[in-house]
Amino acid sequence: MLFKNFSAYLQRIEKTTLRLEITDLLSQLFSKLTPTEGKLASYLLLGQLAPNYQGVEFNLATKTMIKIVSRTYNLPEEEVKKRYKDVGDLGEVVWQVASKKGEKDKLTIKEVYRHLYQVAQEEGEGSVERKQYLMAGLLRQLDPLSGKYVVRIPLGKLRLGFSQLTILDALSWRLVGDKSWRPLLEKAYNVRSDIGIIVEVVLNHLREEKQLEELKKLLGKMTVQPGVPIRPALASRLPNFEEIMSKLPQAGIEPKYDGLRTQIHAWREQYKKRNALFSKETDVKVKIFSRNLEDLTLMFPEVKESAIELVEKFNLRGVILDSESISFDPQTGSFFPFQETIKRKRKYNVTKLRQQLPVRTYVFDILYFNGEDLLTQPLSRRRSHLDELLAKPVGCLNLTPQHLVKEKKEMETLFDEYVSAGLEGIMVKKLDSVYQAGARNFNWVKFKPSALASVEDTFDLVVLGWYQGKGKRNKFGVGAFLVGVYNPREDNYLTISKIGTGLTDNQWRELHQHCLQIKAPHKLVNYVVPKELACDFWAEPALVVEIKADEITHSPLHTSGYALRFPRLVRFRDDKLPTQATTPEEIKEMMT
Ligand code: AMP
Repeated sequence: MLFKNFSAYLQRIEKTTLRLEITDLLSQLFSKLTPTEGKLASYLLLGQLAPNYQGVEFNLATKTMIKIVSRTYNLPEEEVKKRYKDVGDLGEVVWQVASKKGEKDKLTIKEVYRHLYQVAQEEGEGSVERKQYLMAGLLRQLDPLSGKYVVRIPLGKLRLGFSQLTILDALSWRLVGDKSWRPLLEKAYNVRSDIGIIVEVVLNHLREEKQLEELKKLLGKMTVQPGVPIRPALASRLPNFEEIMSKLPQAGIEPKYDGLRTQIHAWREQYKKRNALFSKETDVKVKIFSRNLEDLTLMFPEVKESAIELVEKFNLRGVILDSESISFDPQTGSFFPFQETIKRKRKYNVTKLRQQLPVRTYVFDILYFNGEDLLTQPLSRRRSHLDELLAKPVGCLNLTPQHLVKEKKEMETLFDEYVSAGLEGIMVKKLDSVYQAGARNFNWVKFKPSALASVEDTFDLVVLGWYQGKGKRNKFGVGAFLVGVYNPREDNYLTISKIGTGLTDNQWRELHQHCLQIKAPHKLVNYVVPKELACDFWAEPALVVEIKADEITHSPLHTSGYALRFPRLVRFRDDKLPTQATTPEEIKEMMT
């Protein structure tokens, strides 16, 4: 397909505010693409070139893109800047200035993709210059509409207002004319974490006109693979111990550490590779992924070394571990708060950071063991592997203790113990539960002290936009901001609170800085916001904030149906994706 025709679809998608229509348009688009085109298009639709975990990044700032636009269309930089300031979107600027040039596009989706990939690949000295040159070369070959979208992609501002889930719905529509195949497709996506592969498999299947049963088998075979991250299982919450006991009568209680989620893959490419016997170098490969599936391997060398040690100690073919890594004070051994651990999420000065903020990794699950996919095994069986492997700590890898409890009293005692030891709370896990990748359900329930103090707990909410500052707060640039929950059923965001107090001066300043980076020129189509709450400025769904509130109430105004009383900001959650924010279901559960 020509990129020009692809862009025409993007334009139609951008113009609609109806999710059903978006799904329908995507489904129509997929019907016109080859499997490879479908794969590449699905990345582009999400403003990416590859799945998150492959870390393919453009590293092109708006400032550089302004230079590119000026160079491509022979306009003074000042004029591009001025137009950008007026419309708030460089794509729109390209659309305005390129339209004078007339049509001339012959590039296909694949060719544009390849060009963009080349731009992303440029790194090192002089790379900014080379990126500019390549981008300008690409834009010159494109018609205005294609230019508009191509400029937005590297800036991460495509703003089509949907996530992977809507793409899965569109595939389901292509297959059976409704959404009924989404759970099956989602299951495969959750273990492969690569939307492109799922699109390719489905389009291939459609092209070969095989039976649906065949596809079901094929998707079922998409199991875990060392090196390929699995979307992490998430925890729900319940309001008190009674509810927890009644929902999870056979439960294992674990401490909840307030660190960073680390999914550790350690494996041998070729088991017993011949020359490995003679070589001192290890043949064990390690990858560490964050909760968002970013590659953290270089940032946690001690975790990598320990994972290698584990594989060698037990002569394993491979393991995938789920764990929490938390930094501690090397002098006293006591844990540092989350704000310190997150400092380890840096690519530079790793050696120094490793000394200042060493981490201990608490392993609480195992998803793959020596060729066996353990996702469908009950937690108790998965834990028995862990009990063996980590009976003694290996390097920085420790076993997360788990206590089986039958009585509410025992749960309360454990909770008190962990909280007084400075931990965040407890995780309660159903012993016979499978590992449901990517799912937030009641297999795992988190319980923190805030839930006891008549405070309902904290919520991870997405910043949807903000309001101009008035009076004193004018100096911060933000007077109040609007936050929402993520509704995975509809792939949209519903409002829950307009927050105008509960931040320190520094937090207001930091919020403003964050907001400026994610400013959008208009409300996104998957933001369901009542007229009364329309923001002065809109934000891309990119910033998650942890908000504490005294109470949840029913609300006729907010589109989630709920509002928060006395909300205040606890912290910015850089480690969470907007699609991992609190859901309306969770809020509902807290109300009952
Ligand atoms: P939350 O971030 O509040 O949704 O809580 C879930 C997070 O707690 C997980 O994503 C883990 O990063 C972290 N966590 C800490 N301890 C545990 C544990 N024992 N089991 C599972 N997750 C844990």
